[in-house]
Amino acid sequence: MPVSPSPLISKKVNIQTFGCQMNEYDTDKMLEVLRHQNFTYTDDCKEADLIILNTCSVRDKAEQKVYSLLGRLNPLKKKKPDLIIGVGGCVAQQEGEKILKRDKNVDLVFGTDNFFDLPEILKEVRLGNRVVQTARKAYKQKVRNFIPDFTFENVSKPGVKTYLAITKGCNNFCSFCIVPVTRGLEVSRKPDNILREARQLVEQGTKEICLLGQNVNSYNAEGVDFVELLGNLNKIPGLERIRFTSPHPKDFDESLADALRDLKSLCEQLHLPLQSGSDAVLQRMKRHYTLETYLKKVEILRSRVPHATISTDLIVGFPGETDADFEKTLEAMESVRFEQVYAFKYSIRPGTPAETLDGQLEESIKVERLQRVLETQDRIVTEKHREMMGTELEVLVEGAYPRDPSSRSGRSRGHHPVVIMKSDAAIGDLVQVRVTGAKKYSLEAETL
Ligand code: SF4
Repeated sequence: MPVSPSPLISKKVNIQTFGCQMNEYDTDKMLEVLRHQNFTYTDDCKEADLIILNTCSVRDKAEQKVYSLLGRLNPLKKKKPDLIIGVGGCVAQQEGEKILKRDKNVDLVFGTDNFFDLPEILKEVRLGNRVVQTARKAYKQKVRNFIPDFTFENVSKPGVKTYLAITKGCNNFCSFCIVPVTRGLEVSRKPDNILREARQLVEQGTKEICLLGQNVNSYNAEGVDFVELLGNLNKIPGLERIRFTSPHPKDFDESLADALRDLKSLCEQLHLPLQSGSDAVLQRMKRHYTLETYLKKVEILRSRVPHATISTDLIVGFPGETDADFEKTLEAMESVRFEQVYAFKYSIRPGTPAETLDGQLEESIKVERLQRVLETQDRIVTEKHREMMGTELEVLVEGAYPRDPSSRSGRSRGHHPVVIMKSDAAIGDLVQVRVTGAKKYSLEAETL
């Protein structure tokens, strides 16, 4: 039975985060909640009084990985019986009670909407109870406000670049994805709540905010849609850059393309997940667009913002993907010429409709297709980087370049990684540069 010190005594928490940006964002918010409970963060789980695994179920065999990680924490718990071990995030949402049954050292399991309840959950744990809290419906109002009971001013300094979640959950039910189950249906956060957090972040030094949502551009709350929200954020003095991820192609339209052209702070960059170039595969994925309609959206953007950069997600080896289907994905890559591609081999995620589809492919086919996607993209991005030689860019400095501390690294508005050679610019500076070198993964530049 964990008998932790009273909440008044300062304690240490270690959170291990897996998966997407939304999980990283949730971890930050958990830390804010826990700081109000007198916890400080530690990287070292040996000195922690509370260890939380913030889990992700997107990858293959996610549950087994969580159980094996928990197994590795057992010796720590033996040495320090007061240690509280918790599991949060998507695997916790899916597995719930099962986690407590399988690992006797776990004290608390909480779902993706329940980290606001950590103070009450910890109180229960300190009384000697093991707690599972994954209920969703009672938390809807809290989720809408996201930050219901706490004042988050001056508790931690955000980075020059930071995430800000504006929606949670998803209504799309793509056949390969577990998000609508683990994070529930889409809920949009209130606009005034978002704007308040954005202003606070800017006051504390943030220059760039990346809006997060599983289907970020279907945001709609209190009559404010995504484009109007972007317009309001664009008016915040000192907020130099706004990005967003991930939009769904079906919800990308002229008004958003106009915003990308017209709003000064909105970076001319779009991450638009394609997933496959084959209409037959897209249909089995339940993506609700065809290659033709996707390419039309790209055209809508490029007709307004010719220099906009576009990145995408691709899945290779989806059930039933033929050689001809796969060739269409490569053709789509040649046609759009993405700046960046996040490519994945399809792997079964338990509980998704795609799990039971016929035509699951051999691993060797997936490996080979992934390799061809990566080679194609390497060639395209190398060519694109070479085409940028001599062009001028604005770079937001993120820090010293690790391989040469007298240089600086940062990102352009188009999200190109840029190394500014021989520069003493400070973190957070916006620097005008000229591109002097083109590498596969970055650009080199000199200050203008
Ligand atoms: S849009 Fe599809 S892939 Fe993205 S979170 Fe929703 S269901 Fe998953």
